[in-house]
Amino acid sequence: MTVMLGPAWTLKPDTPEDTGRQPLAVETVIGAHAAALIPGVITTTPHARYLALHARLAIEAQRCGWTDDKDLKAFRALVRRSEVVLGAVSIAHGEAEDDHHLRAGSFGPHGVNTIRPELQRHRAVDVGRVADAYSRVRGGYLQTYAGIEAVLGLTDGGRIPLPGPAAGTDQLAALDEILSVAQREKPLSLADLDALRHLCVCAMGDASDGECVRNAYFAGPERPGYAQTHRSSAAILVEALAGEHVDGESIDMSMDRWCCFRPGLREVVGEDLYRHALVWRGALLRNWSVWAWRLIWARLVSPLSGTGTLEQATAEFVRDLPDATVREALVDGLPPVVDGVGTPLPVEHDLYDEALNSDDWTVFGMLRLLAVGARRMDHLDPAARDAFVGAFSDDLGPGFVAAWLARDGHRPLADAVSDLTGALFHRAEAVSRQKMQWTRYGLRLPTRLRRVGDRWRLEGREGRAAVSLRLPTFTNVMQQLNVLSHDGDTWRPGRHAAEVTP
Ligand SMILES: [Zn+2]
Repeated sequence: MTVMLGPAWTLKPDTPEDTGRQPLAVETVIGAHAAALIPGVITTTPHARYLALHARLAIEAQRCGWTDDKDLKAFRALVRRSEVVLGAVSIAHGEAEDDHHLRAGSFGPHGVNTIRPELQRHRAVDVGRVADAYSRVRGGYLQTYAGIEAVLGLTDGGRIPLPGPAAGTDQLAALDEILSVAQREKPLSLADLDALRHLCVCAMGDASDGECVRNAYFAGPERPGYAQTHRSSAAILVEALAGEHVDGESIDMSMDRWCCFRPGLREVVGEDLYRHALVWRGALLRNWSVWAWRLIWARLVSPLSGTGTLEQATAEFVRDLPDATVREALVDGLPPVVDGVGTPLPVEHDLYDEALNSDDWTVFGMLRLLAVGARRMDHLDPAARDAFVGAFSDDLGPGFVAAWLARDGHRPLADAVSDLTGALFHRAEAVSRQKMQWTRYGLRLPTRLRRVGDRWRLEGREGRAAVSLRLPTFTNVMQQLNVLSHDGDTWRPGRHAAEVTP
């Protein structure tokens, strides 16, 4: 069976072969939406307690008078040792059951692949030794989180960061013990780690450093706009997930159901939150179109892994398309995309279910997904429509698809799609030329598709996963902050959900 990567599997947002690979350059709109809707997380920052730890470390650097390059070594050593302590406590607690999984979320602590074997082998963690090995980045995970910590006002994001306005010294004292334990030479035994379980990533929600990080997200002393955005996005997430099964659909699908397809949403959430939900609606729906293009490209070039011509790849791509005109197949043949009162209908989910039931997307299914996006433009509220169309003009958006359907409506589907694939090959080449760069090995053309005489060869495999709107990471952070919780079965509002309810 073909592995299908999409909204139902976005827990891990990108497969390794996907990372940084955007051969058609259609993904920017989704990244821009994610950054605007959830400015305080990126896909690689799932753990709220690292935010607090780094803010606490910034306070420590200030106390020690560490400011310039000569202090960097000492600061980084402390960062690395502290991150190992937080990781080790969390991994040990995770193995002790104790409801850890209910509060920790689904992402492993940072450095788990180094720390867990150490713990299993020695029944203890030598902090100094593991600190040399758990991350290949010199600044440890501080470098990953720094930009987010600056956005939240927890630090200034520097190499030796200064504490930001949201770094509450008293609240962050909850983590003092991590810093003192980090400097111990004697390895931490399982009993030592167990005694520190209150410092686990799962134990933050009701600790004072959790309060500090919630304030940074939702009160935002420096950036009130961001705080409002985080409150609104968190409130919508809590509403969308409440009552959903933890192991059921992906978070993206639940958000779709709530923001895009729920009848009477305006009455349920109120006017302010409704406006925010409409922006989510535009972003979520557009992500299906972006995913369609990624699926199309990956399928189109897949025959070239054995070397071939573009004509052969195109012939293979259109082989099973129905014998109909573009208009018959992709305009007249579409189901309605809204109900009688204008609420969007989940046509994307129906197409997705079809793909799941037959183990993979058909080419026709991918094209229908694009056509549904084009149809949506005429049926969305202005706020949702603006978000759906996006701010970029040349990214094969729904307007491009609508124009193609109108222009080629009378043509046989296979012919029109053959021409479309030619345009895609040109586009991918142009995208790759734009990204071309000189390296010390010569000119590097970032593409998997290489010309071999008059033939082409695909090196590796193109990614076909959906782009992440950062929802799994955001959910993890909100769960650790106890804004969102579950009982192992069903999601529900967390103890601090009231802090985001308008
Ligand atoms: Zn725990």
